Amino acid sequence: MGPYLGKTVLVTGGAGFLGSYLCERLLGEGHEVICVDNYFTGRKENIAHLLGNPYFEVIRHDITFPLYLEVDEIYNLACPASPVHYQFDPVQTTKTSVHGSINMLGLARRVKAKIFQASTSEVYGDPEVHPQSESYWGRVNPAGIRACYDEGKRCAETLFFDYHRMHGIDIKIARIFNTYGPRMHPDDGRVVSNFIMQALKGKPLTVYGNGAQTRSFCYVDDMIEGFLKVMNSEKGFTGPVNLGNCNEITIGELAQRVLDITGSNSEIVYKPLPQDDPRRRRPDTTLAKDKLGWEPVADIEKGLRATVEYFEQLLKYG
Ligand code: NAD
Ligand code: UDP
Repeated sequence: MGPYLGKTVLVTGGAGFLGSYLCERLLGEGHEVICVDNYFTGRKENIAHLLGNPYFEVIRHDITFPLYLEVDEIYNLACPASPVHYQFDPVQTTKTSVHGSINMLGLARRVKAKIFQASTSEVYGDPEVHPQSESYWGRVNPAGIRACYDEGKRCAETLFFDYHRMHGIDIKIARIFNTYGPRMHPDDGRVVSNFIMQALKGKPLTVYGNGAQTRSFCYVDDMIEGFLKVMNSEKGFTGPVNLGNCNEITIGELAQRVLDITGSNSEIVYKPLPQDDPRRRRPDTTLAKDKLGWEPVADIEKGLRATVEYFEQLLKYG
């Protein structure tokens, strides 16, 4: 074997839904990957297939505590993403974004690593501007039940920019819009996994509110391609940059599509709309297109079918 030429890359939240695909992709590109996770919402099953790879290493660690490693790049994904999970222990959620970012930025500063932050469309809150572009500052309720996540992620962006301005850290911030695909946690609580699991089990699909609220769903493969494009963007490009699919659909329409694809006879039931639930969400992805040459290619029909297949297998074989 010749000398090892890849980079050493840290992925926090690497056992989660997006993190596990990112680890896989980075290994495929010839890098050494260190996956850090506290398994709050992540699962060992997501990364089990990578464990035999000598360039893959896993550390059980909570990023709200300092971490000392030698790495070239950091992808900071650690943070529960589903409202159900991030509201379970809201103080820990804020700590993960704020203390976690301080720890990861401190690490980046010490070892001069480039660092990527998984930010979110939630920084726009319940937006008055549609579609949302990076220049919009958002409309977040700082005292509401989503604030632990939204304000945590907003503060993380602040910290990234302050470390960049004060210490010259090479930062890359992506604002991720709703992403779905295989390996979402079956009890994740997000709408795509909820509807599919309910349809497959013949249980009613729980639409919150009247189902007229919208989201724009991006397939996981497109999102991971976007992460790499952001990390590898030209020096000095910090973002924030929106990553997401521009095809907006109502939650009611999504429920119907899941019923059609699964062939399920489940009924649709209407439940109260959670507090501060954004009414409309669609990314303006002009910046990602112009700066990174990135555009999602997967269509929702194919993406949902692949996700349905994954959950079918999970129900069959565990
Ligand atoms: P996920 O819940 O599957 O993954 C998050 C991972 O972080 C899990 O493995 C979890 O165990 C780990 N984690 C949580 N707190 C931690 C801590 N304190 N220390 C170490 N590990 C911790 O969610 P995901 O969908 O894969 O999201 C990944 C990232 O992308 C998150 O930062 C999320 O906010 C962001 N994001 C995701 C979406 C989406 O639609 N999937 C949208 C916007 C932003
Ligand atoms: N939602 C729903 N039924 C569910 C789960 C979610 O109608 O079982 C709605 C939720 O109220 C929101 C949208 O689907 O309007 C997306 O919710 P999710 O939790 O997936 O992500 P969000 O974009 O709100 O963070």
